[in-house]
Amino acid sequence: QMAVRKLRGEDKEEELVIDYVRPFILHLLLSLSWVLEAELLGYTNFCIFPLHFTSNSHIYRLKCVWILAADIKSKEAFEDGEWGRMNARERGRLMYRLADLMEEHQEELATIESIDSGAVYTLALKTHIGMSVQTFRYFAGWCDKIQGATIPINQARPNHNLTFTKKEPIGVCAIIIPWNYPLMMLAWKSAACLAAGNTLVLKPAQVTPLTSLKFAELSAKAGFPKGVINILPGSGGLVGQHLSEHPDVRKVGFTGSTPTGKQIMKSAAANLKKVSLELGGKSPLIIFSDCELDRAVKMGMGAVYFNKGENCIAAGRLFVEESIHDEFVRKVDRNSLDNGKSLSTFTMLKCCSILSLGFFMEPTVFTDVEDHMYIAQEESFGPVMVISKFKNGDIDGVLRRANATEYGLASGVFTKDINKALYISEKLEAGTVFINTYNKTDVAAPFGGFKLSGFGKDLGEEALHEYLRTKAITVEY
Ligand code: NAD
Repeated sequence: QMAVRKLRGEDKEEELVIDYVRPFILHLLLSLSWVLEAELLGYTNFCIFPLHFTSNSHIYRLKCVWILAADIKSKEAFEDGEWGRMNARERGRLMYRLADLMEEHQEELATIESIDSGAVYTLALKTHIGMSVQTFRYFAGWCDKIQGATIPINQARPNHNLTFTKKEPIGVCAIIIPWNYPLMMLAWKSAACLAAGNTLVLKPAQVTPLTSLKFAELSAKAGFPKGVINILPGSGGLVGQHLSEHPDVRKVGFTGSTPTGKQIMKSAAANLKKVSLELGGKSPLIIFSDCELDRAVKMGMGAVYFNKGENCIAAGRLFVEESIHDEFVRKVDRNSLDNGKSLSTFTMLKCCSILSLGFFMEPTVFTDVEDHMYIAQEESFGPVMVISKFKNGDIDGVLRRANATEYGLASGVFTKDINKALYISEKLEAGTVFINTYNKTDVAAPFGGFKLSGFGKDLGEEALHEYLRTKAITVEY
């Protein structure tokens, strides 16, 4: 709102400066009010809290960690509590009720998310919160559909033997998430974890804990038993590491950067926890001359700039066929100005005084990039488009370049030739391939990377199995 008023010339500079203080105070008041409410109403779903605030240039910390409480409550809730005895349909009903409550509070959640993570409000409402609600509904539907199999076994008396498998929850799960989609990352992991019947201790990123705390409040209102959902904000080195090492935690579901993922693997090795890692990426997007060019330009910009470029599957490298390269670059350049209203970063760009007051990065396009350059290798996690040419018709050459990265999260290709598109989709070393589109994630489709982008899946049926273990039982009768 401040940016829009500034655009219209309705605001004074001093008011903008003062505005840095408001999120800070709101952060403090919301957190304290939730702590008080938790204490007064006796929720144990809360485990409070280090609060971390960022101002324009400083980080303020106030620490008070109740780590042990969260671990113990989560274990008790799994082993002895109402949750363990609850039938699967009732578990699903609680998850549906939680999704309804999240939807009822969607505007509040989007406001908090926007203040906390810097997400544009409309995007926070539609994507951050909207997809979180959908995720809970999707996994709620799975609760009563988790089943094993019967297996014929090779024994002397086959008619007197029965072997069957049972899918069981793992136990206490630690969920550690990043700051770029705080509630959505919470939902992607927690919904599968709860649907499978586990209890969880979730650590949000230290700079974006607010929607997680609001979520804890809503989960208590939905009727989740005490100790099932524990939110434990704090720093990675302290709380995150503690959870990854803790002997009672049986599984760590992590989303974040590759170096932290490696650290978590080391911490989890002490008691051989199950681990799933959704890590960083430098996703290639290949644009052939036989594509629909305007669509490729529009989608290519979305592939890079969506959520301000703070997107794990952001297309970090664009390979454009030589014959359309210059036109593609010209159109990207022109669209950067024309599309100002639809891409948040460009709206900000128009308020120049605003740029000087905060941490804003202009959308930036690099052309003639060579593969060895740092900018072609490392995740930028900002509105940065990196364009390279490839020789006309050199499909295998561009594939080699696209795969020449340690990451393997996502990828894309634009061409009208479906045979070429499918050939390329087979050869690309990435967990997701988009053809003539980009950023189309859906709660029903598995999402996760290869190589240094991690292993394990979020979303879809496969995510459920990340939070289950299989037991084989044989009876002779
Ligand atoms: P990060 O790795 O710095 O932090 C992620 C989380 O790990 C935070 O909660 C942090 O506090 C915690 N952490 C840090 N050190 C830890 C330790 N030693 N032990 C345990 N936990 C620790 O990542 P970030 O900067 O918050 O997020 C950006 C990264 O996340 C990018 O690389 C992005 O690509 C990635 N990401 C991946 C996906 C995906 O699905 N693959 C989705 C979103 C973001």
